[in-house]
Amino acid sequence: MNQKPKVATCSLGGCFGCHMSLLDIDERIIDLAAAVDFDRTPLTDIKQIGACTVGLIEGGVCNAENVEVLREFRSHCQILVAVGACAITGGVPAMRNSFALRDCLQEAYLHGVGVESPQIPNDPEIPLLLNQVYPLNEVVKIDYFLPGCPPSAETIWTFLEELLAGKPVEFAYRQIRYD
Ligand code: SF4
Repeated sequence: MNQKPKVATCSLGGCFGCHMSLLDIDERIIDLAAAVDFDRTPLTDIKQIGACTVGLIEGGVCNAENVEVLREFRSHCQILVAVGACAITGGVPAMRNSFALRDCLQEAYLHGVGVESPQIPNDPEIPLLLNQVYPLNEVVKIDYFLPGCPPSAETIWTFLEELLAGKPVEFAYRQIRYD
């Protein structure tokens, strides 16, 4: 019996909106679950990634843990996909790139409106923030870029269906317009 392709997903510096868009394929998630095995993903809660056919990653690279997870996905996935604006350009989290990291931390934890017990967290368990937020392709090689904030469920479905069928991925114009 042929093994099913394995799919892993994760969110780095993202809002999980791209994962929500994946879930918006609605009942087709059953078809997807029949066609693939899910590996590490919030859908399975598996924490360690194994060898996978496709890795879908949302979010920018914000901290040292993001770098580690991204490299792990790259080394385990035949095809790595940057899903959504944050993964492709840094997106919303990269808005902090216009400011010094120190200023961002002071605004968030010391001087911001509504801050109580001002203190910048320094627990060693907290992943170290990078000075800037990076798109995925500045850290590892990315095979496909799926734009949108988030990409629509239709776009994600078309992408997965055609990719897993071994076809060239083509989108209808309505799936890749953003006005
Ligand atoms: Fe959230 Fe948009 Fe970033 Fe996806 S691209 S993680 S929906 S902010």
